[in-house]
Amino acid sequence: VALRSRLKETVTEVLALNTRLEAIITVKPSHPSSGFHGKIDFSSPPWHAQAANTVLDLHAWSRDAEALTRIRATLPARYRGGSSANTRKALGSLYSLSEGIDDAVVYDTIRWLEGWCRKAEVVLGEREAIRRLPQQPGETARLCPWCRKDTLRQMTRQGVIFCVDILCRSEDGDRPRAQLEMFDGQWELRWMDGVLGTP
Ligand SMILES: [Zn+2]
Repeated sequence: VALRSRLKETVTEVLALNTRLEAIITVKPSHPSSGFHGKIDFSSPPWHAQAANTVLDLHAWSRDAEALTRIRATLPARYRGGSSANTRKALGSLYSLSEGIDDAVVYDTIRWLEGWCRKAEVVLGEREAIRRLPQQPGETARLCPWCRKDTLRQMTRQGVIFCVDILCRSEDGDRPRAQLEMFDGQWELRWMDGVLGTP
């Protein structure tokens, strides 16, 4: 039952974010860093492509998920058109049919929708995207000093670098986390234990 109410809350959140994304699709994002002067920038379309793609992902996924759920519940297939209203109905029926569906499937549904919410928040500028560390061509990726895996990522605006492996811990049981610090004219990583560079 808890899983179903979480699905209901997630669907509500998804629908709210979807409405806000649809509202910005026709607004072209500005690129303050591109420094483009005197020419037409053909590389970026005159609409918010990221917002449009995120909305289309949800449209496609919700129809597929509803179709699969109806098959699992041995209900006849139902075709849904491409409108937003139909996406709402498809997501609503995912919830109403969830009673007769395996917990594992409901859980996967929630996970996909929560992942979609995170992407939507990045597009809306409310959550910073997690990126790989910059790398020179031919250079190998910096490994996490603790788990020795290619799991270091950064959030540039917050200026933090961390290991994305949720099981990774330092000797003191802390999650690996560093900040960029200028040292001897070079950028170095200052880790949570105070050690500079690669411990
Ligand atoms: Zn690690």
